Amino acid sequence: IPLVELKNVQQVYGSGARRFTAIQDVNLIIREGEFVALLGPSGCGKSTLLRIITGLQSPTSGQVLYRGTPLHDVNPYATIVFQTFALFPWLTVFENVDLALKVRGVAAEVRKNRALELLDKVGLDGFETAYPRELSGGMRQKVGFARAIAVEPELLCLDEPFSALDLLSAESLRGELMELWLSGAIPTRAILMVTHNIEEAVFMADRVILMDKEPGRVVGSLDITLPHPRQ
Ligand code: ADP
Ligand code: ADP
Repeated sequence: IPLVELKNVQQVYGSGARRFTAIQDVNLIIREGEFVALLGPSGCGKSTLLRIITGLQSPTSGQVLYRGTPLHDVNPYATIVFQTFALFPWLTVFENVDLALKVRGVAAEVRKNRALELLDKVGLDGFETAYPRELSGGMRQKVGFARAIAVEPELLCLDEPFSALDLLSAESLRGELMELWLSGAIPTRAILMVTHNIEEAVFMADRVILMDKEPGRVVGSLDITLPHPRQ
């Protein structure tokens, strides 16, 4: 039984003459253990689909199932790493991660260790009391990753997580993420990454779901058959 399954998902925006179909008839599954990339041009509905999968938005029609149960009947426990980090600027690195745990109701004693451990894992040891503005883009996104992973989501969603970074920072962060993921250090069942970067999708994912626009729909699914160190 797949971790996530979308059945005939459709999203219509606007009404009357402005009514248009952003995504049409999307069927897809995400299995446990998979790193899936959602690849397509700007405007094909990738962000819309991410919001639907994480329950931030209900589709106009169709079904989203988590382990076979409709999304509105379960707490899906997914987190998102955003393109532009979305950190709270008035909170320190530690406080940004700690707050995410607090919101999920994690007890204070557990929170501190979990946050420090995660920050250490992503290479931010020593930066706990820094503010986001004092960090480089790459380091800010590491906080974004630490915050998303700390709550141990079943599905970790990444929305163009490297596209706001310079090439070198993006390259090194991709490598570090893959190292953590392949070594099992990320306690999540699957990763779904939205991107319009083909190389990034093929390098990182086990499977690439291709989308196209007008209307947004899935036009193919590509298994990456290169031998993976995880196997
Ligand atoms: P992508 O992430 O692939 O760029 P989006 O999901 O952001 O695609 O957008 C798909 C299409 O739907 C675009 O044409 C966008 O302008 C439109 N759209 C997205 N969100 C909304 C919204 N809340 N209301 C109206 N149109 C929207
Ligand atoms: P991205 O493509 O990086 O996700 P966008 O700039 O397309 O970002 O969209 C940013 C936000 O604006 C999203 O929440 C999206 O739903 C909303 N949005 C995008 N297009 C429209 C639109 N035509 N009308 C209303 N809201 C929109």
